[in-house]
Amino acid sequence: IPIYLCIIIAIIISINGYRQLKRPRSPQEELRRAVEDNEFLPYLQPIVNHQGRICGAEILMRWHHPNQGFIMPDLFIPLAEDTGLITIMTTQMLTSVKSYLLQNQHYLPDGFHLAINISPGQCNDLLFYNDCLSFMSVFPEGKVKLVAELTEREFIEDTGNAALLFEKLHNLGVQIALDDFGTGHSSLAYINQFNIDIIKIDKSFTHLIGSVDMPSHIVDNVVDLANRLNIDVVAEGVENATQEAYLKLRNIQFFQGYFYDKPIPPAVFIEKMQQQSDRQARLSADLSLNG
Ligand code: C2E
Ligand code: MG
Ligand code: MG
Ligand code: MG
Repeated sequence: IPIYLCIIIAIIISINGYRQLKRPRSPQEELRRAVEDNEFLPYLQPIVNHQGRICGAEILMRWHHPNQGFIMPDLFIPLAEDTGLITIMTTQMLTSVKSYLLQNQHYLPDGFHLAINISPGQCNDLLFYNDCLSFMSVFPEGKVKLVAELTEREFIEDTGNAALLFEKLHNLGVQIALDDFGTGHSSLAYINQFNIDIIKIDKSFTHLIGSVDMPSHIVDNVVDLANRLNIDVVAEGVENATQEAYLKLRNIQFFQGYFYDKPIPPAVFIEKMQQQSDRQARLSADLSLNG
């Protein structure tokens, strides 16, 4: 073959390669690549009890994109749900948090409340159940209380399947929470159909507390309903002392919001748990000295 032909072929090949490189990936391909490259990270937002102590956390996903920095879940969760990639991303979150908590379990109070968000599409198979099984199996019994938070952004298509899954989760000791309660279209139907352990009052309701035209009966009625049905309540989006005081008077058990902490990297969360557990130890040492 003449040399000039070789050169022309080489040029054509390299131009094509360049085109391939420049062709923008579809959002689906980009998400898939990011899952393979482990770019999704769990952040933990503390959940505090009536005494103001951290008694748990919610796992909130963050996308650490190499060029775009941190991307918030509202921008990628819908696509993750549509593509089904949410399943493997959930597995990644639980696996990562499991190893952090396992190494530091002596700093966690017993019955540590660990919440993970699940999408309605994850109610159709046993993949999430298997994640929970492998999570629960490494901790001593009663150490961690895993909670699956279900949102109503999408409908649960097969409620029979979901009920079956929830029953299996309950047998494992995993609790079911209704997230963003009152904002979807099926809150009351879900309470009626499923065995629900926890209601999360949506932050849009929490934020009404203290405003002039607050329809306080919304929060009050949700708490009332929960009490009657023997369901725990977590207040989401607590941002100030006024909101906290109001919610405490309503006998709400768990609080979450910027007033306490933002979602933070697991290592920072563990540091906080360590400080809290050191404080507790000092306190009980003082008490035994003085008593
Ligand atoms: P969510 O489960 O209702 O989580 C609470 C959201 O409120 C989080 O937003 C949290 O950062 C934010 N937040 C917490 N405290 C406050 C506060 O005091 N004020 C205000 N204004 N906001 C507060 P984020 O992290 O952006 O997550 C948004 C939603 O994305 C979540 O809402 C959840 O539905 C979804 N999501 C996040 N991670 C996952 C995941 O791993 N799997 C699934 N399926 N969904 C997830
Ligand atoms: Mg949630
Ligand atoms: Mg919520
Ligand atoms: Mg929400």
